[in-house]
Amino acid sequence: MPLDLSSRVSDLNDRYRHHGATAVLERALTDPDVGDIALVSSFGAESVALLHLVSVIDRRVPVLFIDTEMLFPETLTYQSELAVKLNLSDLRIVRARLADTLAEDPRGDLHKSNPDACCALRKTVPLQRALEGFDGWITGRKRYQGSSRQDLQFFEAEEATGRIKVNPLAHWTSEDVQDYITENRLPRHPLVSRGYPSIGCLPCTSKVEEGEDPRAGRWRGQDKDECGIHFVDGKIVRGPKPEAA
Ligand code: SF4
Repeated sequence: MPLDLSSRVSDLNDRYRHHGATAVLERALTDPDVGDIALVSSFGAESVALLHLVSVIDRRVPVLFIDTEMLFPETLTYQSELAVKLNLSDLRIVRARLADTLAEDPRGDLHKSNPDACCALRKTVPLQRALEGFDGWITGRKRYQGSSRQDLQFFEAEEATGRIKVNPLAHWTSEDVQDYITENRLPRHPLVSRGYPSIGCLPCTSKVEEGEDPRAGRWRGQDKDECGIHFVDGKIVRGPKPEAA
C-alpha cells in the first residue's frame, strides 16, 4: 500500500539526510516517491545557481517562471538571456489570466490596497494552475532566508495540494550561493550590484542598505515577508501560514 504524503516526505528526508544539493536534486528527479516535478524560478538575485544545477543534470526539466507583469524590466531581460545561456528546453512562462486581471486589478494598483490579493491573483493562482499534472516542485528556498524558513527540510509535504516541495538548497548559506555563481562564472542579475540582494516585483521591492537583512527591501514597511497566500483544502486562504512556505 503506498505511503501517505507526510510519511513519504519523512521517508525521503531520512533517506537523503546526508546528501548535498546536487545529489538531492538528481535523486528527486528520478525517485518514484517524488514523481514528476518542475522547477519554479523567479529568475531573481540568487536563482541562477539552482537553474544552473538543474540545467547540468537535465536541461529538459520544466522550468516555470511566474511573470506577474509587475517585474523589473531587468528581470525579464535576464530571464530570456539566462534561458538561452543555460539551454533550458522546457521554459514555461506563467501569467494570470487576462480576464482575472481585468476583473480584479483593472488599474494595476491592487498591490497598494491589498498586496495579498495581488499576490494571489498574479502568483499563487497562476502557479497552482501551472502545477496541475505535477506531483511536486523544486524551490530555491534556503534556511538562512528568514525565521519562517529556519527549519526547512529537503522535502516538504504540501498537504493542501498533495504535492511535495523539494528544497535542494535548504542548507546553503548566502556565501555558498555566491561561491557557486563565481566558480561557475554565471551571470548575475543586474540589479544585485545596484543594491537589490532580493528581487521581486518592481512596486514591492526597494533597495537594501548596508547591514540590513537581504529581504528587508521586500514589501518594506508592510507586515508581509512572503506571498501570504496558501491553499487549504484546495481553497485560497490569506493570513498566517500554517507552516513555512
Ligand atoms: S509582490 Fe507586489 S506587485 Fe507582485 S504580485 Fe505581490 S503584491 Fe502584486
